[in-house]
Amino acid sequence: MSFLRLLARNRLALAGLVVMACVCLLALVTPLLPLAAPDITDTGNRFRPPFSEGALLGTDHLGRDLLSRLLWGTRLSLAVGLAAAVTAAVLGAAIGIVAGFYGGRTDNLIMRGVDMLMAFPYILLALAIVAALGPGLMNALIAVAAVNIPFFARNIRGVTVGIAHKEFVDAARLSGMSDLRIVLTEILPNVVPVIVIAMSTTVGWMILETAGLSFLGLGSQPPVADLGSMLGEARAALITSPHTSVVPGAMILVIVMAINLLGDGVRDALDPRLKSGALNRPLPATQVARDAPVPAAQGGAALLSIDGLKTEFRVKGRVYRAVGGVDLDVRPGECLGLVGESGSGKSVTALSVMGLVASPPGVITGGSVHFDGQDLIGARYETLRRIRGDRVAYIFQDPQATLHPLYTIGTQLVEAIRAHHAVPRAEARARAVDLLGAVRIPNAAARIDSYPHELSGGMRQRVGIAMALANDPDVIIADEPTTALDVTVQAQILALLDELRRARGLAILFITHDFGVVAQLCDRVAVMYAGRIVETGPTDAILSRPAHPYTARLMACVPAPGGGRRRLATIPGLPPSVDDLPAGCAFAGRCDLVQDTCRRGEITLDPLTADRAVRCPTPLRAGAPAS
Ligand code: ADP
Ligand code: MG
Repeated sequence: MSFLRLLARNRLALAGLVVMACVCLLALVTPLLPLAAPDITDTGNRFRPPFSEGALLGTDHLGRDLLSRLLWGTRLSLAVGLAAAVTAAVLGAAIGIVAGFYGGRTDNLIMRGVDMLMAFPYILLALAIVAALGPGLMNALIAVAAVNIPFFARNIRGVTVGIAHKEFVDAARLSGMSDLRIVLTEILPNVVPVIVIAMSTTVGWMILETAGLSFLGLGSQPPVADLGSMLGEARAALITSPHTSVVPGAMILVIVMAINLLGDGVRDALDPRLKSGALNRPLPATQVARDAPVPAAQGGAALLSIDGLKTEFRVKGRVYRAVGGVDLDVRPGECLGLVGESGSGKSVTALSVMGLVASPPGVITGGSVHFDGQDLIGARYETLRRIRGDRVAYIFQDPQATLHPLYTIGTQLVEAIRAHHAVPRAEARARAVDLLGAVRIPNAAARIDSYPHELSGGMRQRVGIAMALANDPDVIIADEPTTALDVTVQAQILALLDELRRARGLAILFITHDFGVVAQLCDRVAVMYAGRIVETGPTDAILSRPAHPYTARLMACVPAPGGGRRRLATIPGLPPSVDDLPAGCAFAGRCDLVQDTCRRGEITLDPLTADRAVRCPTPLRAGAPAS
């Protein structure tokens, strides 16, 4: 199980686990061990030192065997501490979930009650509860559990509030599930890790608190021993016979240390953010492992030239060849469209350019990316950092995810500018207002102090574009920047990008799966399938006379306005998985025109005319209309 493996990576947590396992085992087998009776007094043999005959750890002030009392006491302390932790966790979590799920007045009422409990000094509250109920171990347990309930309730309420308004809970509600069922099947599984984490980090505390109450004489009552009462009884002889205090004290130390180390380990291993990426942080730039010689830049006048780029993901022994040798080049003032089905490797290609693919698991295994004559693959991080956002900028699909929710858009634009240029804040702000005006945000001077959530989706996308333009870049890589927008806003944004490239000589690599957008904006198109470019050429030539069967089929899937009613074409089957690509053409399995040659060897990207190339042994005759 991955949880145990993650836990085992943490040496300290593993040590804690081993120690706790030993202690628990000892506690479990205590009744079976040949020990002296823990409560039989023998005043003739008081305060015998450790390692004396018949008493391995010595005896206490009443001549009782310390080893026996220690083991029985540990058993009791562990049981009470764990029971208190479980009680507090269950009740606290239930309260927190109810408060967080129902919200409003219920939430207010419950949480103010919890606040009142929390306003009392911790130990005083426990003392008051025991005083009211009377001394005794059971009452100490109740007191410790009660004191800890607010901690769990607050924690779990916070998590529940975050989940209760997520779409999947709304979906469950819309499907007619009862509240109880939603709580049990939708909410609970999401908060259980938090409960376990909170518990693992507080069990140690609760054992200490129970021992504290017993130490004060409010927990276990004589002659029964628990670790706290043993310490309490030994207090009077602390100087003359220190071993009577050291023995239970050391046990408490060992238990609490072990539990806390284990608890930290459990928290790290269960944290969902750490789960996916193991315990690794991504590197600042994608890892590069090129063994083949680095290709030189091919596209003569190109500003950005990608040659033979290969990027793969290495996950658990499998290799996903997301990008398998891609060549692209973009000239100044040109817009190159990169089209293809979802999962064909467009985003990974775009992110590889600036080393933005998360590593691990991403590795660039071949090829080069020349920008302005310099190879960016394997370039020093400082070099990449200088170029990122300044000369090569990105626009992503979802501006909500790229804008920081807690800063105004003005602050973020100013930051984007000042990250690269030491300009005074006021000047950067004036530039930010200009940029917002340039992307047609109405009333830019006032809007600049808005937070991202105060803007509409289209406006946020414009802010994303403004940010990409902030430092007057030479290249913009736009990864489906208009997919989330409605058609009117999309048209405005495309017009804006088109104008900018004509006015500023910007080179654009425009990623999309929408041929309509391509037709409107792009000079040239590259069609991608299963990590490779299958066809490139000028936009009109490809749109009117596709040469690769895949391009033709892809375009046939687009409904034509005014084309009357017709059955919409689809491409049967699915693209091959990139961890198991077939030999020959990756599209062969779905192609109507497949021949034997398609399934053998490497199919190369061959020139078709002066400015077109296609990766197909039997391309459609240029001039044949799209079927
Ligand atoms: P798209 O063309 O839709 O932008 P992507 O470039 O995002 O596609 O993905 C290309 C391929 O890479 C997909 O098959 C995807 O499953 C794979 N991939 C992307 N990220 C990872 C990852 N972190 N681990 C494994 N495979 C990945
Ligand atoms: Mg993508």
